[in-house]
Amino acid sequence: MRAAVVRTLGAPLVIEDRPDPRPGPAQVSIRVEASGLCHTDIHAARGDWPVKPNPPFVPGHEGVGIVERLGDDVTHLSVGQRVAVPWLGWACGRCEHCLSGWETLCERQKNTGYGVDGGHAEMMLAHADFAQPVPDGIDPREAAPLTCAGVTTYKAVKVAGVGPTDLVAVSGIGGLGHLAVQYAKIAGATVAAIDVTDDKLSLAGELGADILIDARKEDPAEVLRRHGGAHAAIALAVDDRATEALQRGLRRGGKLVLVSLPAGGALRVPVFDTVLNGTSVIGSIVGTRQDLAEVFALHAAGRTKAIYETRPLEAVNDCIQEILGGHVRARVVFEM
Ligand code: NAD
Ligand code: ZN
Ligand code: ZN
Repeated sequence: MRAAVVRTLGAPLVIEDRPDPRPGPAQVSIRVEASGLCHTDIHAARGDWPVKPNPPFVPGHEGVGIVERLGDDVTHLSVGQRVAVPWLGWACGRCEHCLSGWETLCERQKNTGYGVDGGHAEMMLAHADFAQPVPDGIDPREAAPLTCAGVTTYKAVKVAGVGPTDLVAVSGIGGLGHLAVQYAKIAGATVAAIDVTDDKLSLAGELGADILIDARKEDPAEVLRRHGGAHAAIALAVDDRATEALQRGLRRGGKLVLVSLPAGGALRVPVFDTVLNGTSVIGSIVGTRQDLAEVFALHAAGRTKAIYETRPLEAVNDCIQEILGGHVRARVVFEM
């Protein structure tokens, strides 16, 4: 099978032929149909973060495909079934986080496309308990962006406790942001979308954003404050200044939800303003298996749209440049 492999951090990916993987106990092997390219894969390939992946590895945590073989003891999935393999590739199921509904905080978790090989390949392995069944009727190319971009922003909207009278700011209308806008609308909020390209802003408008803010031309904080300030602001742009503008655009009691992970990212929290205004800064990491099931259910019910462009796996390095240049319509999905 072919796979896109990071051989050296910071170097272009290499397309390699590898033996088809065989599932061990409690695993399944999957013939990948579609695999979304998340900005996290770019951070992974460059070694942007303090905890680095160990090359060689196959990135990709939006892999969707058909179960080909079952490992020993796998009884709840069947051969031929469509599943999605998210970032949370495995969690222990026994620690306080796992037992309290926060498996995404498990200290023993394994991360797909980072700690274990991921979806940018013709075949992949997954722990059967963490391979999420994809409901009938969802196209695999749509299921792919939902598997990380969808579940992550759905969770961020949940964590912010968004309600129908809230103003929600979404900064960065890329893979994650185009879905964040939709989940905030489903929660009933008024949505302000912020980006630095015309295409992304018009896409946000098509997806229901009420206020469009071009951060090249206006200070997003000022625009948000003109509207009374944001009850919740979701940081998705890979840019510390964009996050800082969101912080200044909060209303009293507002919540800033950090999701994007720029290399060396840091935010100055002004103590006086934070205390007097009662604002919060919250980190949010992907979502649980239950969150992903809810994301798929919403999509199957026709309530969300996944926007993507398909590419062959061989184009992986060009696609990374396109994403960094802001030239992609929301998500790139590799079609195998
Ligand atoms: P993306 O590249 O598809 O989208 C980023 C968007 O930000 C683009 O539309 C770009 O035009 C816009 N942008 C750039 N500069 C901006 C600025 N100054 N102001 C406003 N918008 C600006 O990336 P993505 O796949 O959506 O991922 C976004 C980030 O989220 C990445 O850092 C990724 O690693 C991270 N991420 C975090 C989690 C999590 O669980 N916390 C999960 C997935 C991804
Ligand atoms: Zn991701
Ligand atoms: Zn655990």
